Amino acid sequence: MSHFIDQFTTTIPGVRVRFGAGVRHKVAEEMAAMGLTRALILTTSQQADTGAEFAALLGARAAGVYANATMHTPVAISEEATARALELRADCLLAVGGGSTTGLGKAIAWRTDLPQIVVPTTYAGSEATGILGQTEAGRKTTLTSPKVQPEVILYDAELVRSLPVGMTVTSALNAMAHAAEGLYAQNRSPISTLMALEGLRAFRDALPRVLDNPADLHARGETLYGAWLCGTVLGTVGMALHHKLCHTLGGSFDLPHAETHSVILPHAIAYNEQAAAAELAPIAEIFGGATPGQALHGFARRMQAPTALRDLGLPESALDRATEIATQNPYWNPRPVQAEALRRLLQNAWSGAAPAA
Ligand code: NAD
Repeated sequence: MSHFIDQFTTTIPGVRVRFGAGVRHKVAEEMAAMGLTRALILTTSQQADTGAEFAALLGARAAGVYANATMHTPVAISEEATARALELRADCLLAVGGGSTTGLGKAIAWRTDLPQIVVPTTYAGSEATGILGQTEAGRKTTLTSPKVQPEVILYDAELVRSLPVGMTVTSALNAMAHAAEGLYAQNRSPISTLMALEGLRAFRDALPRVLDNPADLHARGETLYGAWLCGTVLGTVGMALHHKLCHTLGGSFDLPHAETHSVILPHAIAYNEQAAAAELAPIAEIFGGATPGQALHGFARRMQAPTALRDLGLPESALDRATEIATQNPYWNPRPVQAEALRRLLQNAWSGAAPAA
């Protein structure tokens, strides 16, 4: 059992975090506590209704709504939204949505230093990091700065209930990937490991219950708890082969973010399971399996996650090029990244085969 409880508030250095079903109703209170009076509400066009709900909730504290957050944080959109924030004299940003919306808030904060309040509606975990990924002319760049770290996070289980079941599963595996790679990060600490293991346990316990009943608020809250822990790990330690492969497949082959994480995770962990045997052993215990890679593969299958890159639209002919790109400027990884072994990994992930060490 994880240590999750339904309601709590905590402050980790520089970040105030509140959990609770309905906690979105505290946005005005949080703004008042920081002396803020005019929030620019950010969301996607798909979640425009949620943006409007927040505008109604904030009344005079809402400076406006920008409902055009876009996947991969294109610089042109960030500049347009920044101009809107300045024109409306917003004194803070309220991002309501998944990683794309949070990314837009961070991009505006990077340009203006405006404080950010984030209300996450997926498990991507971006709200818990000082990392900003942006794209311009088809190129994705990443920067890390305290300037982009959101100041307040409100985790409201009621808002994540609307996340469709398929996205719930892939988004959860996206979060779990941060924790799994955090276990062997070079700069890990006992605290990052505790957070990673607790985050993985929260998903193991709560995700099946969410799939049984997507409206179960306690289970939804527990998955958000997992997302916060896994996101905090991502913001604290370096990532390795798994994230490099996902960035390659997303950046160069336009594969969808969370689905790609879901497919690759068991394979990347299997690749590293001998080089980081002690660090990864708890994964086999938590999810039940002969090896950490098999344990994650089994969990993903039980959750009916996608397990093959070919089902995400990647042609088999792209695997050689993907191997080439993924071996250029590799991230540090516990096992050296060898082209031949990586090509085998990608072949297995492409066809949906079981992961091999
Ligand atoms: P997303 O934010 O792109 O959301 C996908 C779609 O789902 C959008 O249309 C969104 O409006 C919709 N949606 C979100 N929550 C919903 C809900 N509760 N109900 C109904 N619809 C909902 O997807 P994501 O996976 O959360 O984020 C992916 C992006 O985040 C990627 O660009 C990734 O690079 C980035 N990311 C960044 C970091 C970081 O630390 N910088 C960390 C993780 C992810």
